[in-house]
Amino acid sequence: MEPVKEVRSVGVVGGGTMGAGIAQVFAAKGFRVMLVDIRDEALARARGAVEGSLSRLVRKGALQEADRAAALERLAFERDARAVAGADFVVEAVVEDADLKRQVFRELDGLLRPGVVLASNTSSISITRLAAATRRPEAVIGMHFMNPVPLMELVEVIRGHATCDATHAVAVDLALRLGKTPVTVSDYPGFVSNRVLMPMINEAIYALMEGVASKEDIDTVFRLGMHHPMGPLALADFIGLDVCLSILEVLHRGLGDPKYRPCPLLRRMVEAGHLGRKTGKGFYDYPEQGGWTSS
Ligand code: NAD
Repeated sequence: MEPVKEVRSVGVVGGGTMGAGIAQVFAAKGFRVMLVDIRDEALARARGAVEGSLSRLVRKGALQEADRAAALERLAFERDARAVAGADFVVEAVVEDADLKRQVFRELDGLLRPGVVLASNTSSISITRLAAATRRPEAVIGMHFMNPVPLMELVEVIRGHATCDATHAVAVDLALRLGKTPVTVSDYPGFVSNRVLMPMINEAIYALMEGVASKEDIDTVFRLGMHHPMGPLALADFIGLDVCLSILEVLHRGLGDPKYRPCPLLRRMVEAGHLGRKTGKGFYDYPEQGGWTSS
């Protein structure tokens, strides 16, 4: 089956941090977008996030007011996955859980017309495994957007074992139409981005655990010495320590090399519920996010 190449409408399934950003960039570039989430609170938050982000772009002069209003007009927020049944292309951005994603892929495969390309925004789960849950593995691909989606230029495009050339061409073309730079990689654990980034973060946590330097000093080495915009521990807080742990586990299991074993301090912090910015506490404190007052 030839993939659907003419894409005018896009379904985004999962309306969290990433789904809201992905929906925004498609709507801003003229696509009709149906954003689906199973939770009303997530949909309300997604709407607020998109409106806020588009307004900031208007204030910065990067977007006209009329274009902001038009983008919002093109965007529908839905509770039921059937809302994407007529879409020409779908991006899945539900939580990072392989069983859940496979179930969502199976359901979408039954809803979408043949040839519609199904992309996943997974950070680490095998695209080949998700594709195998469908009857259209040739039309399944990874499109790994970076956070925050409206600002970050890269899209890692991941070819699964069965992804066909035409599906790959559709994903690359869409990334370009969104003004992003696509980089194509093969389906191996962590792709390129997380395979290289996560061992660096993990090693920074080992250095902290072993008392090599303070958290501030470890981060300063990377900010001033390597010109990174934020140090690895601050970045881990931004990504979420639970997300870092689960990606390291995927690398460790999938590549079988002990160099990927998650640092015990990372595990302990996740067990304590100190997940970074989203809980108000990680390596650093974020009282405005989670209401923590002590350090
Ligand atoms: P999130 O927790 O903010 O959002 C996930 C959303 O999925 C939630 O709102 C949840 O209600 C919804 N959901 C769960 N089951 C659903 C279902 N069956 N149908 C529809 N919606 C459902 O997560 P996120 O940070 O936006 O991450 C989403 C995906 O993007 C993950 O695969 C993650 O690995 C990947 N990713 C995240 C980042 C990041 O920095 N946060 C970066 C790149 C990729």
